[in-house]
Amino acid sequence: MTELTHMTIAEALKGLENKDFTSVELTQAHIGAIENTRHLNVFVTETPELALKQAAESDKRRTAGDAGLLDGIPLAIKDLFCTKDVQTTAGSHILEGFVPTYESTVTTNLFRDGAVMLGKTNLDEFAMGSSNTTSFFGNVINPWKNQSNPDADLVPGGSSGGSSAAVAARIALGATGTDTGGSIRQPAAFTGTVGVKPTYGRCSRWGTVAFASSLDQAGAFARTVEDSALLLQSMSGHDPMDSTSADKNVPDWASTLQGDIKGMKIGIPKEYRMDGMPDEIEQLWQKGIEWMKDAGAEIIDVSLPHTKYALPAYYIIAPAEASTNLSRYDGVRYGLRVEGENLRDTYESTRAEGFGDEVKRRIMIGTYVLSAGYYDAYYMKAQKVRRLILQDFEKAYEQCDALLTPTAPSAAFAIGEKEDDQIKMYLNDIFTVPANLAGLPGLSVPAGLDKDGLPLGLQILGKAWDEETIFRVGNKIEQAANFTAIPEMVMQKAA
Ligand code: GLN
Repeated sequence: MTELTHMTIAEALKGLENKDFTSVELTQAHIGAIENTRHLNVFVTETPELALKQAAESDKRRTAGDAGLLDGIPLAIKDLFCTKDVQTTAGSHILEGFVPTYESTVTTNLFRDGAVMLGKTNLDEFAMGSSNTTSFFGNVINPWKNQSNPDADLVPGGSSGGSSAAVAARIALGATGTDTGGSIRQPAAFTGTVGVKPTYGRCSRWGTVAFASSLDQAGAFARTVEDSALLLQSMSGHDPMDSTSADKNVPDWASTLQGDIKGMKIGIPKEYRMDGMPDEIEQLWQKGIEWMKDAGAEIIDVSLPHTKYALPAYYIIAPAEASTNLSRYDGVRYGLRVEGENLRDTYESTRAEGFGDEVKRRIMIGTYVLSAGYYDAYYMKAQKVRRLILQDFEKAYEQCDALLTPTAPSAAFAIGEKEDDQIKMYLNDIFTVPANLAGLPGLSVPAGLDKDGLPLGLQILGKAWDEETIFRVGNKIEQAANFTAIPEMVMQKAA
């Protein structure tokens, strides 16, 4: 039998069903693995007692023949989802000690289906970042190492870096994430895991700490495309508590992803061929194109002419919305309070101490682009660009069913490497941000290793509400790539 922490979710569900092991055993194995990997700093809060209690309840349900879609499966939850009676920090000092009295809809859905929560994973502060280096609770370390420089600790991607590292390090079978500009797909690519961001409106945002409301979407990390589909199925669904949540039927994606892609048209956007992109990424992309042809798909060249404006538009719209969303942290209602001489002083002192540099930078940019006099020049302009980006996709999808691109322009880099240059850091999202601006679904699948032994991902982008196609295409990439590598650190543990 595969070691309990090395299973896929689908395998673990079978094992539970066959009574090969119980959820309590499965959960205990993961709690043990978490204790052995604390140096990765994956969790802000571990919840082993809660996990064991949920696992015991799951075992009872299964015995009673009453098991749900994910019954007994231990998961890691990004610390951006509010969890009732469990501290929720968003990676920020300002929310340290905040214990919600309510549960986010996404976690409610997972618990309805029997999932077990191992803990709350570390992230960039308020999900702002691409490297998990802006968290108040410290950097997360990627379990993968660069073979040319094995002493350097690498970033796990961001902002959902704790979640991606948890799945890669085999300390959770799956994890939740959120993706505002790439925070699921990019960390998935950096850690050799699968990451899915659904269509905007597929998952409820209720109870998820808001960063940029028109871009934020919850999604999942897993070790296979099938597992990611199972997780997303559970997380999705209409929720009257979120007016942007869509009243759409949630398909059983796991049951259709094996279907063939013969005759499907896969678009290759020429604007994603970037100057300075490592050859290996270009080569992997070519390989992906060949895999698609081998599976019977037709490759079509398409153009997304406004791609080059996506990052500038994103870095106006996201900070604008963030500056508004983050105005609620005033030292009165949540978490940290730094008492001042008067109310205004309390607000200012709390915010000065509670927010980190990146969050302050975004609040300042956001307030600037929304201020009278600059609103039309920046914010309105960015919204118009956003519409053009959506129209680019709509045009491309008249010719094809899905798009294939690299997920990120580099493999995982060393902690501190891009810290001195924010623009370099922002460039990491170049291939992921357009889908958020257009509200479209995207999936990153591990597709190979670079010369330093680091994972690289390919991204599949789909039409709105057509997650079915991206899972199906992703499944073909997964089969062809046959990515079985696991981090050295994990292999040593298993030996
Ligand atoms: N890296 C991007 C940013 O810093 C995206 C983050 C995210 O998707 N949450 O805004």
